[in-house]
Amino acid sequence: VTRLKIIIIGGGFGGVKTALDLVDDKRFDISLVSENPNFKYYPALYRTATGGKRNISEVSLNNIFVGKKINLIYDSVVSISKDTQSIKTATGNSIKYDALVLSLGVKTNYFGIEGLDKFSYGIKSTEDAEMLKDHLHKQLIEENRLDSNYVVIGGGPTGIELAGALPTYIKQITDNHGVRPRSIHIDLVEASPRLLPRMPKDVSRSVKKHLKRIGVKVYLKSSVQGQTATELTVNNKPIRSHTVIWTAGVTNHPFFKDNDFQLAKNSKVRVDQFLQAEPGIYVIGDNADTPFSGMAQTALYDGKYVAKNLKRLVANEQPEAYKAKKPIYVVPAGPRYAAVLWGKIRIYGYFGYLLRRAADFMAYNDYLPWQVAAQLWSIEDEEENSCPRCTSE
Ligand SMILES: Cc1cc2nc3c(=O)[nH]c(=O)nc-3n(C[C@H](O)[C@H](O)[C@H](O)COP(=O)(O)OP(=O)(O)OC[C@H]3O[C@@H](n4cnc5c(N)ncnc54)[C@H](O)[C@@H]3O)c2cc1C
Repeated sequence: VTRLKIIIIGGGFGGVKTALDLVDDKRFDISLVSENPNFKYYPALYRTATGGKRNISEVSLNNIFVGKKINLIYDSVVSISKDTQSIKTATGNSIKYDALVLSLGVKTNYFGIEGLDKFSYGIKSTEDAEMLKDHLHKQLIEENRLDSNYVVIGGGPTGIELAGALPTYIKQITDNHGVRPRSIHIDLVEASPRLLPRMPKDVSRSVKKHLKRIGVKVYLKSSVQGQTATELTVNNKPIRSHTVIWTAGVTNHPFFKDNDFQLAKNSKVRVDQFLQAEPGIYVIGDNADTPFSGMAQTALYDGKYVAKNLKRLVANEQPEAYKAKKPIYVVPAGPRYAAVLWGKIRIYGYFGYLLRRAADFMAYNDYLPWQVAAQLWSIEDEEENSCPRCTSE
């Protein structure tokens, strides 16, 4: 029996879900090509950056697919030849496909603002998160004092979860290092007139109030003009800081522009009602121009959807059209607090935090056997530091 050869590019939320949903079906021959041998669980990165363990935000693809019949190829895809139905990788491999699923994720965008690429920290990978954590400790060791300001740029969910976790963590490590307590300045800078600009106004207001309560200063209508090693310029005024974290911009993966895909104004790929850029080439998750693109839940949903349609295809059934699904927004903003927007329902505080914990378990469980998921989930609150002065294991 000839099997349909599916190549999936990207070992993230969309790609891994598509592969998991197809891998046990003998009608398919599955290859997953990813430049990174680990699946990144982005929602836990802020925890890793503020004292949490590394492995809550990163799981090896080998572990996810243990015992499964799949070709895992750790390589970067550089081009596609639609005529010969093949892709080319950075190491010169050429791989043929019958159907292709692209889920490459997005890249950081500094909008050309001077100095940010050189001096700011990011929160897009486990390495980024650990670099930030190491910096926070190193600064206390070398200078024996706090930074003048810790500045998070971007009032979206990522900036909020990080800024919300910083007051407690900085206080904790300041104590650990025996540094004399002084007031801790944590600033959250957002260009638009409110936080969470894509969510309803009342949610923005509540989260802002809560952040203020826990010691985060929120600057709205504030745009960043540049950064040097010691200073950030916001609305033409300097802010002294050696700790600036940029969470404010992403742009679509350059692969699509380089390979002449049709792009929408937001640089995402235009797709048809089956999430295809062209027949047999599916674009999903953050790469696709769909209503709720940019969320892990959407990438996961897209992966499931494409897998289901590929199964219909091999069974000679008509494919189903894509129906976008509104995600549930859960934004942690400080210890034991999260804002939840679930349809029209809003939930704030400790119950929101419990829902976030439940969502994390469900997300781990979507990718891992439940025992492994439960183990990872149970250590989400545990601490890990490589700092020689801190005693926590
Ligand atoms: C800090 C942070 C927190 C977040 N928190 C949440 C949250 O709480 N809830 C939520 O719903 N969403 C959240 N998101 C968004 C969510 O993570 C993304 O929407 C989701 O990861 C998109 O999935 P994807 O498959 O499109 O891309 P990704 O998960 O980014 O996967 C892309 C994969 O492609 C690989 N790749 C890239 N280029 C190549 C190449 N050329 N060749 C081969 N492989 C390549 C990458 O290494 C990666 O493995 C968060 C994002 C960040 C940055």
